[in-house]
Amino acid sequence: MFKNILPLLCLIVVSCKGVSQEKEITSKKDKEFDVTKTEAEWRAELSDAEFYVLRKEATENAFTSELLENKEKGTYVCAGCGTELFRSETKFRSGTGWPSFYEEIKGNVAYDVDYKIGYKRTEEHCATCGGHLGHVFEDGPKPTGLRHCINGVALDFVPDHAN
Ligand SMILES: [Zn+2]
Repeated sequence: MFKNILPLLCLIVVSCKGVSQEKEITSKKDKEFDVTKTEAEWRAELSDAEFYVLRKEATENAFTSELLENKEKGTYVCAGCGTELFRSETKFRSGTGWPSFYEEIKGNVAYDVDYKIGYKRTEEHCATCGGHLGHVFEDGPKPTGLRHCINGVALDFVPDHAN
């Protein structure tokens, strides 16, 4: 897997050196998000678990998310700001213990790179509020071949019949 993701990540690093306005991947700290709050405001609004995952990029323990086995039809939205992030049709059982999707709702998820565990990974976050969601890997199913490995606590589920 390490070898497979390396070419993509090299590309990302190179692209970041270009004109940032035109690139999809811009370092998160250089972005301005539509929803911006102070740390104190987020802390007051979110549960402890939501706060540490969304705002501090923590990772929830595997197999702890209520949404892991959820098979209802609906939309997974950002637990921080309500932006629609993933559709139930793109959810699949990855066996990792984290809710997994092969495709995001285009434009609503943004990407960065992190080195937290010693090598580069593609981090993903809500494009509206910057809340950390998880990471994307290139070992997912067709049609995209991507695996969006998402912290369930960063998501709220809105079933279709509620709309
Ligand atoms: Zn958000």
